[in-house]
Amino acid sequence: MLVAILIAILATMQPYGKVPSTQSYPITTPFEELDLSNWDYRAIKLDQRWQWYPKQLLQPGTRLNGAPQKQVQLPHYFSGQQHLRGDRQSIGSYRLRLKLPENHHQQSLSLSLGYVCNSASVFFYPLGSSADEIKPLLEVGEVAATAQSHRAELGRFYTFLPLQEGSRNYELLIHIAGHNSPNPGLCQAPVIAQSKSIQRLEQLQHISQGFIVAIILSFGLYAIGTSIAGSRNRSYLWIGSAAVLIALAKASLDNFFYLNPEKAIDSNYRFSIGLLYSAIILGGALALGFIHHSFKVHFFTHRFVAGNLLIAIVCSLPFYLLPAEYSRELIIFLVVYAAIQYLLVLYLLRQVLRSRLMYARRITLYISPLLVAIPIEFAEYLGFINESRILIAALVFLVVAQGLNQSQKLARASKLASRLSQGLSDAVQKRTADMHLKNQELLRTQQELTKANQELRALSVTDGLTSVYNRMYFDRQFIAEWQRSRRDQKNLCLMLIDVDHFKQINDEYGHSAGDKILRQIAKILQEHFKRGSDIVCRYGGEEFIVILSDSSTTQAGVLAEQLREKVEQETIKYQGSELSITISLGVCGLTPGPDHQPLDLLNATDQALYKAKREGRNCVRLASPPAPNKSSKDQ
Ligand code: GH3
Ligand code: MG
Ligand code: MG
Repeated sequence: MLVAILIAILATMQPYGKVPSTQSYPITTPFEELDLSNWDYRAIKLDQRWQWYPKQLLQPGTRLNGAPQKQVQLPHYFSGQQHLRGDRQSIGSYRLRLKLPENHHQQSLSLSLGYVCNSASVFFYPLGSSADEIKPLLEVGEVAATAQSHRAELGRFYTFLPLQEGSRNYELLIHIAGHNSPNPGLCQAPVIAQSKSIQRLEQLQHISQGFIVAIILSFGLYAIGTSIAGSRNRSYLWIGSAAVLIALAKASLDNFFYLNPEKAIDSNYRFSIGLLYSAIILGGALALGFIHHSFKVHFFTHRFVAGNLLIAIVCSLPFYLLPAEYSRELIIFLVVYAAIQYLLVLYLLRQVLRSRLMYARRITLYISPLLVAIPIEFAEYLGFINESRILIAALVFLVVAQGLNQSQKLARASKLASRLSQGLSDAVQKRTADMHLKNQELLRTQQELTKANQELRALSVTDGLTSVYNRMYFDRQFIAEWQRSRRDQKNLCLMLIDVDHFKQINDEYGHSAGDKILRQIAKILQEHFKRGSDIVCRYGGEEFIVILSDSSTTQAGVLAEQLREKVEQETIKYQGSELSITISLGVCGLTPGPDHQPLDLLNATDQALYKAKREGRNCVRLASPPAPNKSSKDQ
């Protein structure tokens, strides 16, 4: 682990950057005149941020805005047009004038460049040379296609600068062209140095580059070996293959396959370029396989991963097979594959978001700006949109999105509120309904209770056998009627009824026969006294008593006689035999005065009944009202 960290640190140190006594020169205009009279001849590093001039300004005879005072007359070759094949045009140029020391020709000078372009031409000539004398010193990329020499699209190169005895002033001219790219340029600052220094610098660079390639390659081979020989874990095979490809791509990028410009041949170049792009294309597909095998992500199937790898192989093959002239068309394969991969990444993100894993969502958040930036950058590259419009669109999007978000929130809140209030009113309604129901139940219970109470009360004043009022009711009601009659000065009558020889009936036919007779007589009594104010009670045994309020004693006597006749005519059937019975009645009435006592009336009535019994039974006897009796008031 420690060794790995050490190696990683060493790899980032870029030893080739440490060329001794390298001096930096900031350059701002394309007509900089660099006076190197006092240069110590080790190395100078020119400013990387060169200003590139579009081809329109670089036509012969053009005055350049950047240097109005100098009014330089540009030589015809400055446009670079004649050095570029087909539709390629010089889209960036730079010229630098150098004033070298007197003894410069004894030195060997070299130029080192790192570039990103399709084509580059380098010129270095003594100032004042004629157009015929000026020949390209170095040509790379498609510029060189006809020259059958060194070529590359992205890389570093170095070349000796031809110095001539007698001339101290030189011009350095660089044309760069690309696929109409707006940004061709140098990826590393040009360095002019003693050839020895440059060579050493290149060597160091190659060592460091080789070191990195070796590390990646050994990791990849180790992973593949482990997978095949040991663990049989397929994920190692995928990641190992990807690592080997990346190592080869890096080697290709570092010109490992055509180190020496003189020895480079076309097939080497093709292989190198093929390797670079296929590594980029296949690397992604292999990485997908690695994810599939190591994380067991459910939405990648074997078929899915294999299909992706097949597409990658198909898209990378043309980079090996098609001749160099079709390099522009080859880009189409890269773009198609990139688009497929882009859609794939979007699909994966969708799945990740659906998986509801917190860390996965965070990762999505981090890479989402990149995913948005890629199509925007692409559209801008193709000239569909420009940066300021993107900015405006982004702002509009932000505002609209924020507005939508807010309105959505508002809608959600109001929905929630309405749902809450609906719920509340529902609850209130339900509660009210419940209460209403309970109220009704309560009312019903109350009614039932009242009814039961009434029944109970009725039962408590009713005689169990005959269903007329009982003795307790008579006692209470007699006093009440007495007081009312006294208050109203109305006549109040009592009628006592006793069954004749009842004991005899009981003895002869049994008590149940007697009971039946008592019930029958009670029925006759209730039918006979129809007035609401008449109160029929069982007085005790086979005796009944009737309270007749507001009726004269004579009337009461008539009623008594009628009753007697009714009972006499009644025959009661009992177990086959017909029983006939008679009753004796005593009647007494008076208008209660302050000196009258209720008990006196009762006694007088009883006396009348006794008289009826004594005088032969089955008859009615009226008693004269009792005399007022002050002394018995408290009885
Ligand atoms: P009198 O004509 O003199 O009134 O003769 P009586 O037999 O009716 O007289 P008494 O008062 O001696 O008899 C009353 C009888 O009534 C006594 C009792 O057995 C009977 N008796 C009292 N209460 C009941 C009752 O609830 N059911 C029955 N079956 N008999 C009763
Ligand atoms: Mg009796
Ligand atoms: Mg009797």
